[in-house]
Amino acid sequence: MLRARTIAELKKGNYRTVSVKDEMRSNLVCRLKSAEPLFPGIVGFDDTVIPQISNAILSRHNFILLGLRGQAKSRILRALVALLDEEIPFIAGCEINDDPLKPICRACNERIAELGDGTPIAYLPREQRYVEKLATPDVTIADIIGDLDPIKAARGGHALSSELTIHYGLLTRANRGIFAINELPDLAGKIQVGLFNIMQEGDVQIKGYPVRLPLDVALVFTANPEDYTARGKIITPLKDRIGSEVRTHYPVSIEHAMTITAQEAWTGRGLAVPPVILPFVREVIETIAFEARQEKKIDKRSGVSQRLPITCLENVVSNAERRALINKEDTVAPRLSDIYAALPSMTGKFELEYEGELKGADNVAREIIRQATARVFKKHFDGVPMHGIVQWFELVGALKYPEGAPSSDVYRELKKVQGLLDKAQSLGIKSKDNPSLLVAAGEFVLEGLYALKKISRNEELGYHMEHRRPEPVPDEEEGAMRRRRPLN
Ligand SMILES: [Zn+2]
Repeated sequence: MLRARTIAELKKGNYRTVSVKDEMRSNLVCRLKSAEPLFPGIVGFDDTVIPQISNAILSRHNFILLGLRGQAKSRILRALVALLDEEIPFIAGCEINDDPLKPICRACNERIAELGDGTPIAYLPREQRYVEKLATPDVTIADIIGDLDPIKAARGGHALSSELTIHYGLLTRANRGIFAINELPDLAGKIQVGLFNIMQEGDVQIKGYPVRLPLDVALVFTANPEDYTARGKIITPLKDRIGSEVRTHYPVSIEHAMTITAQEAWTGRGLAVPPVILPFVREVIETIAFEARQEKKIDKRSGVSQRLPITCLENVVSNAERRALINKEDTVAPRLSDIYAALPSMTGKFELEYEGELKGADNVAREIIRQATARVFKKHFDGVPMHGIVQWFELVGALKYPEGAPSSDVYRELKKVQGLLDKAQSLGIKSKDNPSLLVAAGEFVLEGLYALKKISRNEELGYHMEHRRPEPVPDEEEGAMRRRRPLN
């Protein structure tokens, strides 16, 4: 595309004024026709969120994404930039990206009056047409819309109320682009009114002076659904002007969740031998997030972000990497114990209910890891007999190895438990494979049995059999026995 240098040149071409919402709409229409992916890298929203967002854009709506934390809301909004033209012409030097054919700021209008069609033009790339703001209660009209600048007034010899003295705010600078406000309900009522006035009439009052700015902006928002629907948090006329409400959600399937985590987590690290992350390790990590979202001790209104499994996986790999470095091993192969070592990446990612607070975040997290391990273990070892291993602990004794011991040492220990390492075959790991992988598999079996309360584990004895009870009673049977007990 040949770039115009002046308004005259622009007029010779086929440029015409298009509003930002029309521009997004027509680019979306092209994408839909060509069946190109609309939001590359956004996983699991193809049948839910993305069609609704597309409809909102086709309708030329301002819209809001309602969802709990870590549901890719900000990411989706940022991806909207791809629906803008690569670049657009604007009046060179204009602070609010004025359309050369339809300038709204006073400075541009004065310049055009002077220079006419010779007024110079510049081009604005789409990346610079997206402005984002996190709403907090202390955000002011000056931040969002603008302020009257007495210094500017004095220097230019203008009256304070002249539009030439305005120091523009974020929304104003987003003219002809997308303006995103995260956590909209945190915005003070007064600012919401200002926002509404701009959306409605293009009129706004700054320090009591009326200023007319018919901005062209696509407004998009995010909010926690409960905050948004709570009475009084959003002024009604503003709510009324938001064309579509789109609800986001956490990944519905473990597979989608694992895809997201694998995509986002930093695990390769440029190591000569990349870490070998066995599928069951990934599954347990992902299941932790699913379990945590169901957990009564965790506050459901704030949610459990997808960032939990992402940072957890990163820490799990780090713990394995550290162990390999210390022991001078080549293979970084995370184990279940590395997940327990990753507690610092988890405990900050959920808000506790009262009952959870009594237990403490670490204990709640440990409990959840155990539940997740049990779930994944049952899936992989459904119908695989484990009584031989349980029996070994009954008859022979305990198994303990130091945390961070080299794989070769742990391998030797695990081999003592008859039949334990054979179970790795159910996970697709063969006896000839790297001992680090066999160790990871063997530890998974032990952790699974521990999670199902078939064997015990503590710091003193390691894995062992609790001898206070003559025989370990599986959970289900325990319940059945209780039911069979006669009432007295
Ligand atoms: Zn201007």
